[in-house]
Amino acid sequence: MEGKILTDKSLKIAIASGKGGTGKTLISTSMFYAIQEKYENSVLLDCDAEEPNSLLFFDASLKESLKVVQKVPVIDTDKCVYCGKCHDYCEYNAIFIIPPSRIIKVIEELCHGCGACSVACEYDAIIEKDTEVGRVNLFVTDNGMNLVEARMKSGVMSPVPVIKAAHKSTSDKDIVIMDSPPGTSCPFIQTVVEADYVILVTEPTPFGLSDLKQSVNTLKTMHKQYGVVINRAGLGDTKVYDYLKSENIELLAEIPFDKEIAILYSTGKIVAAHDDNLKALFMKIFESIYNSYGNSGNQR
Ligand code: SF4
Ligand code: SF4
Repeated sequence: MEGKILTDKSLKIAIASGKGGTGKTLISTSMFYAIQEKYENSVLLDCDAEEPNSLLFFDASLKESLKVVQKVPVIDTDKCVYCGKCHDYCEYNAIFIIPPSRIIKVIEELCHGCGACSVACEYDAIIEKDTEVGRVNLFVTDNGMNLVEARMKSGVMSPVPVIKAAHKSTSDKDIVIMDSPPGTSCPFIQTVVEADYVILVTEPTPFGLSDLKQSVNTLKTMHKQYGVVINRAGLGDTKVYDYLKSENIELLAEIPFDKEIAILYSTGKIVAAHDDNLKALFMKIFESIYNSYGNSGNQR
């Protein structure tokens, strides 16, 4: 698009927080909005597959919907000898078996598709079938903004395969801004594992501090680069600031506790589209990360 930079670097930034409701969607939508005006070939990727909501902030049309499938075992009861080995190997209790009654059943909703049961079975009694676990939806706005959402099917236990597929669908993009699932469990890890840099969003409250510590500990074990944005600054106490100082963690920015921001966000507006100061702030955060962590030579 005219006036945009086609960068020679690639960069993936995950916006994450230890709990929901801290403002990561506000920040990811606003940062993407700010940078996409300048950087060609960028995308906003919503990895919160259980409840993706980034799309609500954009007027976008569905361009493509990719089915994500997972292998689920099917037991051939003619070959099965009801030895129970597959049940013992399944870490997710997805195989129900009563040998004396010759009953065996795969509980598909609990199955994670790991394949351990197939490996365990010595009687060739397990085959695998594809089952849909979700979709990766690709959207585009009238003015060319690219948006991707990972959306798991309801009733499925793990969003991880959908998140993996969503990452793959953005592999041709140079700049990827990811809205991460809340928490520090598998969906968070599957999201940030792809990131060059993680922005942790917190608020200056005891809950915010507790969740921030968990996120930081997880990122340390993953050897990830990260910094912190404090949202609703001015709301609580100074303990989050003390923690950042004591751990030598970079404070990237503070977003004030402000009624106007809250109204914009709660009415489905991209905050950076209505607040030039915040738009400039998000661009500044992005470019400081881009200058330090972008990978030379794009991957297209
Ligand atoms: S391991 Fe194979 S033979 Fe044994 S109970 Fe499972 S499916 Fe049946
Ligand atoms: S594929 Fe893995 S999770 Fe699914 S039933 Fe087999 S062992 Fe359990």
